[in-house]
Amino acid sequence: YRASLNKIKHSPTRTLDGVDIALQANIEFPEDMTAVKRVGCESVGLYRTEFLYMNRQQAPDEEEHLDAYVRVLQSLRGGPVTIRTLDLGADKQVDSRIHLSPSANPALGLRAIRLCLRDLQLFRPQLRAILRASAKGHVRLMVPMVSSPQEMIQVRNLIGEIRNELIQKKIPFDPQMPIGAMIEVPALAICVDLFTPYADFFSIGTNDLIQYSLAIDRVDNSVNYLYDPLHPAVLRLIKMSIDAANKAAKSVSMCGEMAGDQRYVRLLLGLGLRAFSVNPESFLEVKQTINHSEIKGLIRLANRMLKAKTNEEVTSLLEQINGTK
Ligand code: PEP
Ligand code: MG
Repeated sequence: YRASLNKIKHSPTRTLDGVDIALQANIEFPEDMTAVKRVGCESVGLYRTEFLYMNRQQAPDEEEHLDAYVRVLQSLRGGPVTIRTLDLGADKQVDSRIHLSPSANPALGLRAIRLCLRDLQLFRPQLRAILRASAKGHVRLMVPMVSSPQEMIQVRNLIGEIRNELIQKKIPFDPQMPIGAMIEVPALAICVDLFTPYADFFSIGTNDLIQYSLAIDRVDNSVNYLYDPLHPAVLRLIKMSIDAANKAAKSVSMCGEMAGDQRYVRLLLGLGLRAFSVNPESFLEVKQTINHSEIKGLIRLANRMLKAKTNEEVTSLLEQINGTK
Protein backbone atom coordinates (compact mmCIF):
# COMPACT_ATOMS: atom_id res chain seq x y z
CA TYR A 1 0.00 0.00 0.00
CA ARG A 2 2.84 2.38 0.95
CA ALA A 3 4.52 1.62 -2.35
CA SER A 4 1.35 2.44 -4.27
CA LEU A 5 1.16 5.73 -2.40
CA ASN A 6 4.73 6.58 -3.34
CA LYS A 7 3.86 6.11 -6.99
CA ILE A 8 1.36 8.97 -6.93
CA LYS A 9 3.83 11.40 -5.35
CA HIS A 10 4.37 13.33 -8.55
CA SER A 11 1.02 12.84 -10.26
CA PRO A 12 -1.66 15.54 -10.22
CA THR A 13 -4.49 15.54 -7.69
CA ARG A 14 -7.49 14.98 -9.95
CA THR A 15 -10.77 13.12 -9.59
CA LEU A 16 -11.81 10.32 -11.94
CA ASP A 17 -14.18 12.76 -13.65
CA GLY A 18 -11.29 15.15 -14.30
CA VAL A 19 -11.76 17.81 -11.62
CA ASP A 20 -8.47 19.26 -10.39
CA ILE A 21 -8.22 19.57 -6.62
CA ALA A 22 -5.73 21.79 -4.80
CA LEU A 23 -3.92 19.77 -2.15
CA GLN A 24 -1.55 21.56 0.21
CA ALA A 25 0.22 20.81 3.48
CA ASN A 26 -0.12 22.10 7.05
CA ILE A 27 3.08 22.84 8.97
CA GLU A 28 3.98 24.09 12.43
CA PHE A 29 7.78 24.36 12.18
CA PRO A 30 10.13 25.15 9.29
CA GLU A 31 11.61 21.68 9.96
CA ASP A 32 8.28 20.14 8.91
CA MET A 33 9.25 20.99 5.34
CA THR A 34 11.30 17.79 5.19
CA ALA A 35 8.12 15.74 5.57
CA VAL A 36 6.30 18.01 3.11
CA LYS A 37 8.95 17.52 0.44
CA ARG A 38 9.05 13.78 1.07
CA VAL A 39 5.44 13.43 -0.09
CA GLY A 40 6.07 15.54 -3.19
CA CYS A 41 4.04 18.49 -1.95
CA GLU A 42 4.87 21.93 -3.37
CA SER A 43 2.80 24.30 -1.28
CA VAL A 44 1.76 25.08 2.27
CA GLY A 45 -1.88 25.95 2.96
CA LEU A 46 -1.48 26.54 6.70
CA TYR A 47 1.71 27.59 8.41
CA ARG A 48 0.96 27.85 12.12
CA THR A 49 3.38 30.36 13.63
CA GLU A 50 2.86 29.77 17.35
CA PHE A 51 6.14 27.79 17.58
CA LEU A 52 8.04 31.08 17.32
CA TYR A 53 6.75 32.00 20.75
CA MET A 54 7.38 28.68 22.50
CA ASN A 55 9.85 28.08 25.32
CA ARG A 56 11.10 31.62 25.66
CA GLN A 57 10.73 34.72 27.79
CA GLN A 58 10.63 37.35 25.06
CA ALA A 59 8.43 37.53 21.99
CA PRO A 60 10.41 36.99 18.76
CA ASP A 61 11.55 40.05 16.84
CA GLU A 62 10.92 40.85 13.20
CA GLU A 63 14.18 39.26 12.00
CA GLU A 64 13.39 35.95 13.70
CA HIS A 65 9.98 35.88 12.06
CA LEU A 66 11.49 36.72 8.69
CA ASP A 67 14.14 34.08 9.05
CA ALA A 68 11.58 31.32 9.68
CA TYR A 69 9.35 32.42 6.79
CA VAL A 70 12.22 32.67 4.34
CA ARG A 71 13.39 29.18 5.28
CA VAL A 72 9.99 27.77 4.37
CA LEU A 73 9.86 29.78 1.13
CA GLN A 74 13.31 28.59 0.13
CA SER A 75 12.48 24.95 0.65
CA LEU A 76 9.42 25.49 -1.59
CA ARG A 77 11.58 27.32 -4.12
CA GLY A 78 9.32 30.33 -3.64
CA GLY A 79 6.18 28.20 -3.92
CA PRO A 80 2.98 29.34 -2.26
CA VAL A 81 2.78 29.47 1.51
CA THR A 82 -0.15 30.68 3.59
CA ILE A 83 1.22 32.14 6.82
CA ARG A 84 -1.29 32.33 9.62
CA THR A 85 -0.79 35.16 12.07
CA LEU A 86 -0.35 34.36 15.74
CA ASP A 87 -3.10 32.22 17.24
CA LEU A 88 -2.24 32.26 20.93
CA GLY A 89 -4.69 31.85 23.80
CA ALA A 90 -7.18 29.13 24.66
CA ASP A 91 -5.66 25.76 23.71
CA LYS A 92 -2.41 27.36 22.54
CA GLN A 93 -0.70 28.73 25.64
CA VAL A 94 3.03 29.34 25.55
CA ASP A 95 5.64 30.19 28.08
CA SER A 96 6.70 33.64 27.02
CA ARG A 97 6.45 37.33 27.69
CA ILE A 98 2.81 37.07 26.74
CA HIS A 99 1.16 35.96 29.93
CA LEU A 100 -2.49 35.92 29.18
CA SER A 101 -4.64 36.72 32.13
CA PRO A 102 -6.53 33.62 33.19
CA SER A 103 -10.03 33.53 31.81
CA ALA A 104 -12.95 31.35 32.84
CA ASN A 105 -13.66 30.66 29.16
CA PRO A 106 -10.34 31.02 27.32
CA ALA A 107 -11.74 29.74 24.03
CA LEU A 108 -14.20 32.64 24.11
CA GLY A 109 -11.66 35.13 25.39
CA LEU A 110 -8.70 37.15 24.23
CA ARG A 111 -7.13 34.78 21.73
CA ALA A 112 -5.69 34.89 18.22
CA ILE A 113 -6.58 38.03 16.25
CA ARG A 114 -8.27 39.54 19.29
CA LEU A 115 -5.03 39.35 21.25
CA CYS A 116 -2.99 40.66 18.31
CA LEU A 117 -5.21 43.68 17.77
CA ARG A 118 -5.08 44.42 21.49
CA ASP A 119 -1.27 44.22 21.60
CA LEU A 120 0.13 45.87 18.49
CA GLN A 121 3.68 45.62 19.80
CA LEU A 122 3.23 41.91 19.56
CA PHE A 123 1.49 41.97 16.17
CA ARG A 124 3.44 44.55 14.16
CA PRO A 125 6.79 42.71 13.97
CA GLN A 126 4.99 39.66 12.60
CA LEU A 127 3.07 41.65 9.99
CA ARG A 128 6.25 43.46 8.90
CA ALA A 129 8.09 40.16 8.58
CA ILE A 130 5.28 38.56 6.56
CA LEU A 131 5.24 41.55 4.21
CA ARG A 132 9.02 41.43 3.82
CA ALA A 133 8.87 37.68 3.16
CA SER A 134 6.33 38.37 0.39
CA ALA A 135 9.16 39.93 -1.65
CA LYS A 136 10.90 36.57 -1.68
CA GLY A 137 8.14 34.25 -2.86
CA HIS A 138 4.43 33.65 -3.09
CA VAL A 139 3.08 34.52 0.36
CA ARG A 140 -0.51 34.77 1.57
CA LEU A 141 -1.43 36.11 5.00
CA MET A 142 -4.24 34.43 6.91
CA VAL A 143 -6.04 35.74 9.99
CA PRO A 144 -7.34 33.25 12.62
CA MET A 145 -10.52 33.46 14.74
CA VAL A 146 -12.11 36.31 12.81
CA SER A 147 -15.62 37.04 14.07
CA SER A 148 -16.35 40.56 12.84
CA PRO A 149 -15.61 42.40 9.56
CA GLN A 150 -14.14 45.19 11.70
CA GLU A 151 -11.24 42.90 12.59
CA MET A 152 -10.37 42.41 8.93
CA ILE A 153 -10.63 46.17 8.35
CA GLN A 154 -8.25 46.79 11.25
CA VAL A 155 -5.77 44.24 9.93
CA ARG A 156 -5.91 45.79 6.48
CA ASN A 157 -5.39 49.29 7.85
CA LEU A 158 -2.43 48.11 9.88
CA ILE A 159 -0.92 46.42 6.84
CA GLY A 160 -1.49 49.64 4.88
CA GLU A 161 0.51 51.58 7.47
CA ILE A 162 3.31 49.05 7.43
CA ARG A 163 3.45 49.12 3.63
CA ASN A 164 4.01 52.88 3.78
CA GLU A 165 6.81 52.42 6.31
CA LEU A 166 8.45 49.84 4.07
CA ILE A 167 8.10 52.03 0.99
CA GLN A 168 9.77 54.92 2.82
CA LYS A 169 12.66 52.69 3.83
CA LYS A 170 12.83 51.20 0.34
CA ILE A 171 12.26 47.69 1.72
CA PRO A 172 10.63 45.45 -0.91
CA PHE A 173 7.33 43.59 -0.47
CA ASP A 174 4.57 42.22 -2.68
CA PRO A 175 1.85 44.89 -2.91
CA GLN A 176 -0.58 42.20 -4.11
CA MET A 177 -0.06 39.83 -1.16
CA PRO A 178 -3.48 38.23 -0.55
CA ILE A 179 -5.02 38.67 2.90
CA GLY A 180 -7.52 36.01 3.93
CA ALA A 181 -9.69 34.97 6.85
CA MET A 182 -10.11 31.63 8.54
CA ILE A 183 -13.68 30.46 8.89
CA GLU A 184 -13.67 29.04 12.42
CA VAL A 185 -16.36 31.07 14.15
CA PRO A 186 -19.96 30.20 13.14
CA ALA A 187 -20.77 33.93 12.82
CA LEU A 188 -18.41 34.13 9.87
CA ALA A 189 -19.68 30.94 8.26
CA ILE A 190 -23.24 32.26 8.46
CA CYS A 191 -22.37 35.70 7.02
CA VAL A 192 -19.47 35.07 4.62
CA ASP A 193 -20.96 37.73 2.32
CA LEU A 194 -20.25 40.43 4.92
CA PHE A 195 -16.58 39.47 4.92
CA THR A 196 -15.93 39.04 1.20
CA PRO A 197 -15.06 42.76 0.69
CA TYR A 198 -12.20 42.37 3.18
CA ALA A 199 -10.94 38.83 2.54
CA ASP A 200 -9.09 37.77 -0.62
CA PHE A 201 -9.55 34.12 0.30
CA PHE A 202 -11.01 31.88 3.01
CA SER A 203 -9.90 28.72 4.77
CA ILE A 204 -12.22 26.64 6.94
CA GLY A 205 -10.74 25.70 10.31
CA THR A 206 -12.96 22.81 11.31
CA ASN A 207 -11.24 22.16 14.65
CA ASP A 208 -12.54 25.43 15.99
CA LEU A 209 -15.66 25.60 13.82
CA ILE A 210 -16.83 22.32 15.38
CA GLN A 211 -15.90 23.48 18.87
CA TYR A 212 -17.83 26.73 18.53
CA SER A 213 -20.86 25.47 16.63
CA LEU A 214 -21.48 22.52 18.96
CA ALA A 215 -20.39 24.42 22.10
CA ILE A 216 -17.88 21.80 23.14
CA ASP A 217 -14.42 22.63 24.44
CA ARG A 218 -11.97 20.87 22.10
CA VAL A 219 -9.55 20.20 24.96
CA ASP A 220 -12.10 18.96 27.52
CA ASN A 221 -12.06 15.16 27.47
CA SER A 222 -15.33 14.87 29.31
CA VAL A 223 -17.25 16.29 26.34
CA ASN A 224 -15.19 15.07 23.40
CA TYR A 225 -17.73 12.31 22.67
CA LEU A 226 -19.90 15.16 21.38
CA TYR A 227 -17.19 16.40 19.00
CA ASP A 228 -18.85 15.38 15.75
CA PRO A 229 -17.71 16.58 12.31
CA LEU A 230 -20.80 14.91 10.83
CA HIS A 231 -23.30 16.90 12.88
CA PRO A 232 -25.71 18.41 10.32
CA ALA A 233 -25.06 21.87 11.80
CA VAL A 234 -21.35 21.51 11.06
CA LEU A 235 -21.95 20.18 7.55
CA ARG A 236 -24.41 22.96 6.77
CA LEU A 237 -21.96 25.62 7.99
CA ILE A 238 -19.26 24.10 5.76
CA LYS A 239 -21.62 24.00 2.79
CA MET A 240 -22.76 27.59 3.38
CA SER A 241 -19.15 28.75 3.58
CA ILE A 242 -18.15 27.04 0.33
CA ASP A 243 -21.24 28.26 -1.55
CA ALA A 244 -20.90 31.86 -0.35
CA ALA A 245 -17.19 32.01 -1.18
CA ASN A 246 -17.86 30.56 -4.64
CA LYS A 247 -20.63 33.07 -5.20
CA ALA A 248 -18.21 35.91 -4.45
CA ALA A 249 -15.51 34.27 -6.60
CA LYS A 250 -13.19 33.94 -3.59
CA SER A 251 -11.13 30.81 -3.13
CA VAL A 252 -12.01 28.62 -0.17
CA SER A 253 -9.94 25.82 1.28
CA MET A 254 -10.18 23.65 4.39
CA CYS A 255 -7.20 23.32 6.74
CA GLY A 256 -8.81 21.77 9.84
CA GLU A 257 -8.20 18.10 10.73
CA MET A 258 -11.41 17.10 9.00
CA ALA A 259 -9.83 17.79 5.58
CA GLY A 260 -7.12 15.19 6.20
CA ASP A 261 -9.42 12.51 7.62
CA GLN A 262 -9.95 9.66 5.15
CA ARG A 263 -13.53 9.20 6.30
CA TYR A 264 -14.56 12.70 5.24
CA VAL A 265 -12.61 13.48 2.06
CA ARG A 266 -15.32 12.27 -0.35
CA LEU A 267 -18.10 13.86 1.66
CA LEU A 268 -16.22 17.17 1.43
CA LEU A 269 -15.81 16.76 -2.33
CA GLY A 270 -19.56 16.22 -2.51
CA LEU A 271 -20.16 19.39 -0.50
CA GLY A 272 -18.18 21.30 -3.12
CA LEU A 273 -14.76 21.57 -1.48
CA ARG A 274 -12.01 21.83 -4.11
CA ALA A 275 -9.00 22.77 -1.95
CA PHE A 276 -7.61 20.80 1.01
CA SER A 277 -4.68 21.51 3.31
CA VAL A 278 -3.64 18.50 5.38
CA ASN A 279 -0.84 17.20 7.60
CA PRO A 280 2.07 15.76 5.60
CA GLU A 281 1.34 12.33 7.15
CA SER A 282 -2.13 12.22 5.56
CA PHE A 283 -1.15 13.90 2.30
CA LEU A 284 -0.68 10.89 0.02
CA GLU A 285 -3.66 8.99 1.39
CA VAL A 286 -5.90 11.99 0.79
CA LYS A 287 -4.50 12.33 -2.71
CA GLN A 288 -5.13 8.65 -3.40
CA THR A 289 -8.73 8.96 -2.21
CA ILE A 290 -9.35 12.04 -4.34
CA ASN A 291 -7.81 10.40 -7.40
CA HIS A 292 -10.22 7.46 -6.98
CA SER A 293 -13.34 9.57 -6.48
CA GLU A 294 -16.01 10.63 -8.90
CA ILE A 295 -17.63 13.88 -7.90
CA LYS A 296 -20.92 13.50 -9.77
CA GLY A 297 -22.40 10.82 -7.52
CA LEU A 298 -20.95 12.38 -4.39
CA ILE A 299 -22.87 15.64 -4.73
CA ARG A 300 -26.23 13.88 -4.47
CA LEU A 301 -25.20 11.82 -1.45
CA ALA A 302 -23.61 14.81 0.30
CA ASN A 303 -26.84 16.76 -0.15
CA ARG A 304 -28.75 13.93 1.51
CA MET A 305 -26.24 13.99 4.34
CA LEU A 306 -27.11 17.63 5.05
CA LYS A 307 -30.66 16.52 5.82
CA ALA A 308 -29.96 13.25 7.64
CA LYS A 309 -32.33 12.89 10.57
CA THR A 310 -30.78 10.04 12.53
CA ASN A 311 -27.34 8.69 13.37
CA GLU A 312 -28.22 5.51 11.49
CA GLU A 313 -28.94 7.53 8.37
CA VAL A 314 -25.63 9.40 8.74
CA THR A 315 -23.70 6.15 9.10
CA SER A 316 -25.39 4.53 6.15
CA LEU A 317 -24.91 7.57 3.89
CA LEU A 318 -21.25 7.81 4.84
CA GLU A 319 -20.79 4.15 3.93
CA GLN A 320 -22.40 4.80 0.56
CA ILE A 321 -20.21 7.87 0.02
CA ASN A 322 -17.04 5.99 0.80
CA GLY A 323 -18.13 2.92 -1.13
CA THR A 324 -18.97 4.85 -4.28
CA LYS A 325 -16.44 5.39 -6.96
C1 PEP B 1 -8.72 24.84 13.05
O1 PEP B 1 -9.24 25.41 14.01
O2 PEP B 1 -9.30 23.97 12.36
C2 PEP B 1 -7.34 25.16 12.65
C3 PEP B 1 -6.82 24.72 11.52
O3 PEP B 1 -6.61 25.90 13.52
P1 PEP B 1 -5.98 25.32 14.87
O4 PEP B 1 -6.19 23.84 14.89
O5 PEP B 1 -4.54 25.72 14.85
O6 PEP B 1 -6.77 26.06 15.91
MG1 MG C 1 -8.27 27.13 14.84
